[in-house]
Amino acid sequence: MSIEARIHRWIRPDIIDVEPYHVPDARGMTKLDAMENPYTWPRELRDLWLQRLAETPLNRYPDAAANELRTSLASWCHLDGASEVLLGNGSDELIQILVLALGGTRRTILAPEPTFVMYRLAAKYTGTDYVGVSSSDALAPDLEALLQAIETHKPSCVFLAHPNNPTGGMMETQTVEAVVAATDGLVVVDEAYHAFCDHSYANLLPQYDNLVVMRTFSKLGLAGLRLGFLIGPREWLGVLDRIRLPYNINALTQASALFALEHMAWFEERALEICAERATLSQRLSELPGVELFPSAANFLLFRVGHGCAGAVFDGLCKKKVLIKNLHGTHPSLVDCLRVTIGTAEQNGVFFNALKEQLAAV
Ligand SMILES: *Cc1c(COP(=O)(O)O)cnc(C)c1O
Repeated sequence: MSIEARIHRWIRPDIIDVEPYHVPDARGMTKLDAMENPYTWPRELRDLWLQRLAETPLNRYPDAAANELRTSLASWCHLDGASEVLLGNGSDELIQILVLALGGTRRTILAPEPTFVMYRLAAKYTGTDYVGVSSSDALAPDLEALLQAIETHKPSCVFLAHPNNPTGGMMETQTVEAVVAATDGLVVVDEAYHAFCDHSYANLLPQYDNLVVMRTFSKLGLAGLRLGFLIGPREWLGVLDRIRLPYNINALTQASALFALEHMAWFEERALEICAERATLSQRLSELPGVELFPSAANFLLFRVGHGCAGAVFDGLCKKKVLIKNLHGTHPSLVDCLRVTIGTAEQNGVFFNALKEQLAAV
């Protein structure tokens, strides 16, 4: 039997069909495609952090429960005794844990669309049905359609990204509360962009027993660490914890995240700078003829260019060594849409000038 035949004989056909997650090569480019934070620690902080890492024993397994880190996170998030913290190797792993636990054959995961692709991918990997509920108008979720879909499909889990990726829009309180009340499944509010948004749904946790809130260190400036966390009722998190791999958070990540929590003020200042840059770039983009800008509470902006032009604008920016994200073709409501991550003032200037030139050229 050839190796291909053997693979096709044994690997699940739905896995063979999975498209690999494509990450473009960004070497030498102004990289504004992946919602990374442009700032890195100043020298003094870096040196203190390196000392901490030097003291971290690598011959031993990490603390499997990451107790010190979870305790620090719980106090940072002002959790009361009814809530717990579950850590993941990025929120991506938490999404995988949630879908492993709540998905499977003849079960449904539901989310308003367009949204973060990982919910659909995690469903695919686990043979779970995925229902994306699109809205008829613009890019805000359609509550009526969501409630209808919940009644029809009886999902075991609903993902609501707040603010949403790739739109940047916030999830309205009315929508979140109505969805939580309408489903008996678990509702996950994904607050990956919490640092750039002055509103959170964590305050609803005490009121509902089917709500959890997910956050990440990635957009805050530590994407390389891979640390996400879920907060919510200890009963739900206790069950989810059973399928977490015991040492999923490595010792260097645990030590680095604890260090970061001690220096949170630095991260919060950078987040404020990014919000200020978001305001500046929004203003400039909204004044560009032929650009439709969508309001964003995250560290990126979604905008639409002239009909049929997104590909040419994207390619033109690539030629000018500016990498953003082309969303045209990923969802019907994202036709002609591009997404740019907020960088430093200088990077945003490079992007803006390149975009302006490119729009004049197409
Ligand atoms: C970026 C992103 C995440 C993933 O974050 P990681 O912690 O880096 O895995 C989760 N949810 C949304 C909506 C995101 O945009």
